[in-house]
Amino acid sequence: MNVLVINCGSSSLKYQLLDMTNEEILAKGLAERIGIEGSILIHEAPGKEKVKFEQPMKSHKDALNILMAALVDPNHGVIKSLSEISAVGHRTVHGGETFSASVIIDDAVIASLEECSELAPLHNPANLIGIHACQELLPGVPMVGVFDTAFHQTLPAEAYMYPLPYKIYEDYKVRKYGFHGTSHKFVSLAAAELMDEKIENLKLISCHLGNGASVCAIRHGKAIDTSMGLTPLAGLEMGTRCGDIDPAIIPFLVGKGYTVAELDKMMNKESGILGVSGVSSDFRDVEGAANEGNKRAQLALDIFHYRVRTTIGAYVAAMDGVDGIIFTAGLGENSTTSRQAICNHLKYLGITLDQEANSKRGEAMIISTPESLTKVMVIPTNEELMIARDTLSLVK
Ligand code: ADP
Repeated sequence: MNVLVINCGSSSLKYQLLDMTNEEILAKGLAERIGIEGSILIHEAPGKEKVKFEQPMKSHKDALNILMAALVDPNHGVIKSLSEISAVGHRTVHGGETFSASVIIDDAVIASLEECSELAPLHNPANLIGIHACQELLPGVPMVGVFDTAFHQTLPAEAYMYPLPYKIYEDYKVRKYGFHGTSHKFVSLAAAELMDEKIENLKLISCHLGNGASVCAIRHGKAIDTSMGLTPLAGLEMGTRCGDIDPAIIPFLVGKGYTVAELDKMMNKESGILGVSGVSSDFRDVEGAANEGNKRAQLALDIFHYRVRTTIGAYVAAMDGVDGIIFTAGLGENSTTSRQAICNHLKYLGITLDQEANSKRGEAMIISTPESLTKVMVIPTNEELMIARDTLSLVK
């Protein structure tokens, strides 16, 4: 049984086609820089040559069209026809309080996802585009939604409640939900394996650092705090999102003539490393500019590293200690310099990085020295595999 997993990020689309009889990856790929200059889709199938599609992709639907064609292509394809896809698993971002587990996608679920869109304006619309495009391209194939918010349902009230009047929670369910749950769960389980410990004995901090970024405190296998909130705008500085700011900035700027809609767009799409650097929302571009001496690009990165390390500090306090720190997602898995910049200030946790291990890429490994009191790990996230497992179990 082949399951196609679709993971629409804000500017990226990852996909995998898995044969779930043995969890074998038949093909996988990544479209990046969707909606910005330099869109690229790289399609890979084991034993076949990697194919690159460098063409404009205005939306996720453009990327989906390219990948479907690649899957059935006589040369680099892996299936004869799209009818060999038995089910599609979609990473879905915000489930509000409606969804605390994965579900089969039907019209009611789509309507609920649309309702939740106001809580995740960069993501739920991208997820929905992916769902609608798959309905068109693969009519009648069952689809499952796997929510990013589910893993964080174990947060205690002291972590998920905002100190607003209690009525605001009762009336509107305004609370912290957290995101990237599938990823934080996957990497924390993999970290326990890598450390050769039971997850029930560990205090872990998972840093999912991509275009969207969040940190999660995981005590004994359960999420107890996370940096994103009601929406994925909270917490760290991100590609285009500001993360935490003084809430009084909003009424202050409204007083200066900005509308709430303008501020919403500013905070979600024009802020973060793009807003500070003025260069790009892509970390590689900004690292490149900083290396060439661009001071604002460097400042954007300094703010990012500062926020990651101070959030780690907060979660050490939340868990009364930490055994392991995990780096994952685009930047976390690939940027040697960012991991170094963050860990340079974690010496109080007895952390020393193994320079050689830290310079490697693409495999799960411990990058701290054997003497390091707290282990530091790079673990490539595999949300796709977790999504495919959930999809299989629901459509069976
Ligand atoms: P999302 O899914 O939220 O779009 P990803 O997890 O795919 O994000 O991460 C994308 C980010 O990772 C981009 O900003 C990209 O620049 C960054 N990234 C990828 N590879 C590298 C690298 N080698 N060095 C620095 N940053 C990288």
